[in-house]
Amino acid sequence: MTRLESTMYRVGVVGATGMVGQRFVTLLKNHPWFKITAVAASASSAGKTYSQAVEDRWMMVSPVPKSIGDMTLLDAADVNTIADSCDFLFCAVKLPKADTLALEESYARAETPVISNNSAARLIPDVPMLIPELNPHHAPVIETQRRRLGTRFGFIAVKPNCSVQCYVPALHPLMDFHPERVFVSTYQAISGGGKTFATYPDIIDNIIPYIPEEEEKSESEPLKIWGDLTDGGILPSFAPVISAQCIRVPVSDGHLAAVSIQFAKKPSREDILERWRSFEPLPQRWNLPSAPKPFLRYLDESDRPQTKLDRDYGGGMGVTIGRLRDDPIFDYRFVSLSHNTIRGAAGGGVLTAELLAKEGYIVKK
Ligand code: NAP
Repeated sequence: MTRLESTMYRVGVVGATGMVGQRFVTLLKNHPWFKITAVAASASSAGKTYSQAVEDRWMMVSPVPKSIGDMTLLDAADVNTIADSCDFLFCAVKLPKADTLALEESYARAETPVISNNSAARLIPDVPMLIPELNPHHAPVIETQRRRLGTRFGFIAVKPNCSVQCYVPALHPLMDFHPERVFVSTYQAISGGGKTFATYPDIIDNIIPYIPEEEEKSESEPLKIWGDLTDGGILPSFAPVISAQCIRVPVSDGHLAAVSIQFAKKPSREDILERWRSFEPLPQRWNLPSAPKPFLRYLDESDRPQTKLDRDYGGGMGVTIGRLRDDPIFDYRFVSLSHNTIRGAAGGGVLTAELLAKEGYIVKK
């Protein structure tokens, strides 16, 4: 082990063979603070090397990192072995919700913080649901959760659904104009369902007007992000009322949202543009390794943002906004875009871990 590696946090990836797990493995390849020391998946993958397990389902553009390819996959259910081999872990598994929650809580109880991409724990009041640029002030709710779980170090923190991250960041700097009603249609990539064009040929030349549970998540999760920190947990905000339609479109990566918004205190167009231009949140001020600068980017061209051209802005961690204009029913409308498996999944998880490590919630064991 090099001197630098001995100062790094040891990280586990649970669900490492899946679409989001592969993103984690790719994003963490050269991370300055985090080094993968454990990879885990279902019992059927356990015992294989990582390369063997992903051989015919590797979906990333860059190859399997050599250092990870030779690692032996653990069974995610082997909680003690995983907890012994890492300081904290990222979790992205396809399991029934109750099983996911039980698994995540068992890692937390084994004093291993969990940064989760799963939805199972998202609406538990003492589990912070973080977009680090928007609600880092919710992190102290971890102490309430630790009291419930009876842990000293262990906890679960979650990131919201990928759809939320393509439009909520654009709304956030406008919150003091008191948005009352938001209507959003999302156009979501197939990687959001863990698919590629090879594994999902039915999507070619097609649009699917339904993504299970996506609209409910898109309407409720933002209210927790904008909620108040109280002694008992996060109390969701009552406003704005959000109406969401979530549509699956034939795009590999990138979720795009068309948003209409009505305010109690209508700002000018210039006010809105200025809020987006000047938004410089905590991760950017702290120079966290995965924080894109700036987080929000506005493009003036009337045909931008485009999924293919703009999803990789800021290494896939930035949000691109465009087409701000008057709305004949609401006050304004605009379009915004983010990369669903980077900002909306693994990258958002990595930035969350950077924030929680910087703040001392994640420590080296
Ligand atoms: P996926 O490609 O289907 O991968 C699922 C992962 O779960 C695999 O590593 C799989 O391991 C593992 N797994 C399955 N059964 C298991 C078990 N019994 N015990 C332990 N691990 C098990 O799914 P995904 O798209 O990466 O999504 C994973 C999670 O992230 C889901 O909760 C999803 O909702 C969420 N998410 C996805 C996205 C996205 O853009 N794709 C965005 C945000 C959140 P094996 O290979 O051994 O089967």
